Amino acid sequence: FPSRLPNVGTTIFTVMSALAAQHKAVNLGQGFPDFDCDPKLVDGVTDAMRAAHNQYPPMPGVPALREAIAGKIAALYGHTYDANTEITVTAGATQAILTAILCCVGPGDEVIVLEPCYDSYVPNIELTGASVVRVPLTPGTFRPDFDKIAAALSPRTRAIIINTPHNPSGTVWTPAEMQRLQDLLAPTNVLVISDEVYEHMVYAPLQHESVARYPGLAARSFIISSFGKTYHVTGWKVGYVAAPAALTAEFRKVHQFCVFTVNTPMQVGLANYMQDPAPYVQLPAFYAAKRDLFRAGLGHTKFRLLPCEGTYFQCVAIDGLGVPERDLSEADFCQWLTREIGVAAIPLSAFYGNGFDQKVVRFCFAKKDETLRAALGRLARL
Ligand code: PMP
Ligand code: GLN
Repeated sequence: FPSRLPNVGTTIFTVMSALAAQHKAVNLGQGFPDFDCDPKLVDGVTDAMRAAHNQYPPMPGVPALREAIAGKIAALYGHTYDANTEITVTAGATQAILTAILCCVGPGDEVIVLEPCYDSYVPNIELTGASVVRVPLTPGTFRPDFDKIAAALSPRTRAIIINTPHNPSGTVWTPAEMQRLQDLLAPTNVLVISDEVYEHMVYAPLQHESVARYPGLAARSFIISSFGKTYHVTGWKVGYVAAPAALTAEFRKVHQFCVFTVNTPMQVGLANYMQDPAPYVQLPAFYAAKRDLFRAGLGHTKFRLLPCEGTYFQCVAIDGLGVPERDLSEADFCQWLTREIGVAAIPLSAFYGNGFDQKVVRFCFAKKDETLRAALGRLARL
């Protein structure tokens, strides 16, 4: 039968993790920690199971978790969401993004994405029958180009997807950039899907600019985040959406027929764990130390370091390497690096619809220091 997604294959993250396993490479490709989460979090979930929190929770999520999420957003970003009508717990950010798109976008609409962008956005939009409008981030710096975004807006634009801190580049939007977006959208009805999964990985002196801080944006935004990133539990697949009540009502219409609700014991465990802000407050310092270790080591290699303002990703340019490596496509280079040097990376071309190749690859540094040192030892051979 005709494919709904004829241009889609297996995600690059799955492909590179399989190749890394096959060649026993250090896997700095797919973004996930190689260390475990806080045992207290595991205890909280097993306690919840033993306390019989094992049946369906309310459709939008366990109330205590929604309260904790609303409390965190209010404390950090100064905007109070109503836990009953404006917060929904989702099966990771991935489901949240798809559900947000499905509930507001349809055939004839246009949705703006800023490339490079996370690989699920474009297929999600295509599934609705809407058109994808690709706007490049500024080459080299990966900063938003508001002239280009303004030129891409049309009467058919239904939504724009933004992502700060940005996967893959680590760029963190400034207050001035958020303000520019707010001003640009003010005369329009365009919705914002704000992917903020790396909100707790922003390195000093910068701070995370949630759309929640900008009333004109908050009023038109779905804010999406993920506990997987924040608490080192990517396999739990629990995230959330915060959005004004009218948007949340539409979101929940789709959510209830998509997953209906998300597993109960993890929500109860997360709700208790969130009572202590220390784990997410301390996360930037934790990851900044890993970033600095990794960047210092890469300084002794032939890779050219790009900035890393946030996320747990470090991008490097491969143009300083010898031939033939530097002349390979990014994708072929990543395959070669995995097979021959024993370190897996992700080509940036995977984040572009047209496979744009700028000779930049992404490493994930959410790894034990010893893992990072092992990878650096191998990369120094280049
Ligand atoms: N958005 C971005 C930018 C991501 O990097 C990820 C994780 N790879 C997701 C969404 C999906 O998050 P989750 O694992 O919670 O579904
Ligand atoms: N978000 C992770 C990354 O960018 C991977 C998630 C996935 O494998 N789908 O590496």
